[in-house]
Amino acid sequence: MNEHDSEKISWILDGMGYEITDNREESDLIIFNTCAVRKSAEERVFGQLGELKHLKRKNPNLLLAVCGCMMQREDIREIVLSKFRHVDIIFGTNNIHKIPQLISRHLESGKTIVDINEENREIEESIDANRKYSYKAFVNIMYGCNNFCTYCIVPYTRGRERSREPENILEEIKLLAKSGCKEITLLGQNVNSYGKTLERDYTFADLLREVNDIEGIERIRFMTSHPKDISDELIECFGSLDKLCDQLHLPIQSGSNRLLEAMNRKYTREDYLNKVAKIKMRNPDIVITTDLIVGFPGETEEDFRETLELVKEVKYDSAFTFLYSIREGTKAANMENQIPDDVKHERFQRLMDTLNEIGLEKNEKFLGKIVEVLVEDVSKNDESVLNGRTTSGKLVHFPGTKDLIGSIVNVKIRRVKTFTMEGTVV
Ligand code: SF4
Repeated sequence: MNEHDSEKISWILDGMGYEITDNREESDLIIFNTCAVRKSAEERVFGQLGELKHLKRKNPNLLLAVCGCMMQREDIREIVLSKFRHVDIIFGTNNIHKIPQLISRHLESGKTIVDINEENREIEESIDANRKYSYKAFVNIMYGCNNFCTYCIVPYTRGRERSREPENILEEIKLLAKSGCKEITLLGQNVNSYGKTLERDYTFADLLREVNDIEGIERIRFMTSHPKDISDELIECFGSLDKLCDQLHLPIQSGSNRLLEAMNRKYTREDYLNKVAKIKMRNPDIVITTDLIVGFPGETEEDFRETLELVKEVKYDSAFTFLYSIREGTKAANMENQIPDDVKHERFQRLMDTLNEIGLEKNEKFLGKIVEVLVEDVSKNDESVLNGRTTSGKLVHFPGTKDLIGSIVNVKIRRVKTFTMEGTVV
């Protein structure tokens, strides 16, 4: 979500005559688009802001702005205002479109401008985005979240759920398709509940069906899905929509019902496993990935073993794994029985070992097979090697020339590792 917000910010600045540079020394404007999900990210932002003080001294015309989820929190804004007085503009997630105004307000007054806009969270349709790639794009379909998982700060920073009108989404995707975009990732904190705030009966599955009909679009992905809201109608789409990728990211967080309740996830491991079984029945090739939190307050060895068992049962191809870290402002931050770091790390390692073993086993099934790969880029280390993704989201490396970037090619898989595969174009 933040990555796509940065693409929107870049589009606005482009319209103002700014150009992107990697060189801080020659910058006229530096914007930090921050994330509040992890404490470590927050600390990095403070570190970077501190480092920029000398640059502001050297170049007093340099403008420094901070935006994103961190700035939605009053306590964090106060830290920035008191400790980093060289910051010129602070704005929130709801007023990206106001950047030109905010810059001119600062230039006219010379004062630090703070514009957060907590109340008005209307969807701003006037902003486009400077997308990083021409052949694949993120498209927001909704904003905010109503779920209040007890460890998560997002509902407090991004506000309540709001769905974009389907016509606006479809129009955006049609324009992307016309300009050569092949793959769309529909974005929302919980795409499965898309449509609930619309004034008509329209679901996420309805939207997927309409996107599937758009000429030029060849692949549809989405993230993220809340397991409690994944409907039979949506599961059906995995069997009926030819452009819907064989991939589903379905965050479980824990395999223990006791912890799922403490997390306020509103499903049990049994509900989750039932849904996974239905999805696999509808599409046996589907690759399922997940998010897992290790060391949530009160997690016992037994709870953790239940997570390991569930991981083995679902056989996730991969997972985003997190060591639980306290986020001030969430319910879990005040829970008793916080887990000591050494216990968290030891469990984390066991979880990684299990996931890696399963990941390799799942990838080995691709050996000798021919897969369709959307070519994304050249390898960082070797310009003669390209990389791209299968419809199931697997990263594949293969020899090739740059002119293939953006096309879909057939690759025979000749070698697999835990997280990547290698092959040759056939
Ligand atoms: S569903 Fe839960 S974890 Fe996801 S954004 Fe909403 S509150 Fe956070």
